[in-house]
Amino acid sequence: MTDSADKKPAKPVVLTCAQPTGRLHLGNYLGAVLNWGRMQDDYECFFGIVDQHAITVRQVPAELRDNTYSCLAQYIACGLDPAKSHLFAQSHVIGHTELAWILGCLCPLGQLERMTQFKDKARKHESVDAGLLFYPVLMAADILLYNAELVPVGDDQKQHLELARDLAEKFNHRYSETFKIPEPFISKVGSRIMSLQDPSSKMSKSDPNQSSTVYITDSADEIRKKIMSSVTDSGSDVKFAEDKPGVSNLLTILSACTGESISALENKFVGKGYGDFKKAVADAVVATLNPVRTRYETLIKDRTELDKIFKAGAEQAQSRAFKVLSKVNRKVGFVERPR
Ligand code: AMP
Repeated sequence: MTDSADKKPAKPVVLTCAQPTGRLHLGNYLGAVLNWGRMQDDYECFFGIVDQHAITVRQVPAELRDNTYSCLAQYIACGLDPAKSHLFAQSHVIGHTELAWILGCLCPLGQLERMTQFKDKARKHESVDAGLLFYPVLMAADILLYNAELVPVGDDQKQHLELARDLAEKFNHRYSETFKIPEPFISKVGSRIMSLQDPSSKMSKSDPNQSSTVYITDSADEIRKKIMSSVTDSGSDVKFAEDKPGVSNLLTILSACTGESISALENKFVGKGYGDFKKAVADAVVATLNPVRTRYETLIKDRTELDKIFKAGAEQAQSRAFKVLSKVNRKVGFVERPR
């Protein structure tokens, strides 16, 4: 056990979970991960790679394992620092599924059946496994196991965080005050990056047209090719405007990569064509992602190092998890675990 687990954490606890599903893209980086990295000094951050969630849909075991290592390497390459934060794999920590079971025993079936994401996913599959239904309860356990106060969530996860709050309140009410009630963490900074080929939809890894999406592991050539062939709008003015979604998206990307304001960038490109503008965007994205890709390529080759990071992260997360879990077990009425 580390010392920090025995003391009241000085900084608010933030928990972020990500499934180990493939490669991160520019939208993930500029919209989320970059900000998570910036939070590490002000918050105690737990970053969980949730492999147990991943198996709610069918996985090829070898791919799941590779993706879990890759996910860790990508997050570190993007700036999450194992020396500052707790980076761990969910399946390495005893407590997530145990707490999920206890919370599941407080959760009405109807509430799970009404979850929008469950209904959407269930519609797409012929038969639905119980794990998919139980997914939000496991997510509630991920959060409550560390008594996280803040959880960065996208729109699609808001309903799940609501359930975590309900279950925490229910447990506290039934057994006495135990869990903090987690709040959504809405970051003020963080850009919404749109598809390079269809700027009306978000950049996404599941886009069938892969030239829409820049991955953090793309080579400089691939990045340039994707940006130079991105969709722009009629006219030739570089302006952020509703009727210019393609140019506006590129301005958002350029601003996020360089730190320059949108209006300063608009002024800079007065009288210049889309060609010059796109070249500047491509240069900025290459300059931003090059160091990320280089760090990733070094890390992914060294599984021994990644295993060490997983081990340290699991130990830190486990010490906190055991503390909460033993309190919960005692309150529920379980006999203390024989030592
Ligand atoms: P996902 O890839 O949907 O699992 O999302 C992981 C994180 O990246 C979440 O915090 C999302 O809100 C964020 N994210 C995903 N796509 C984008 C995008 N195109 N622009 C900005 N943020 C995004």
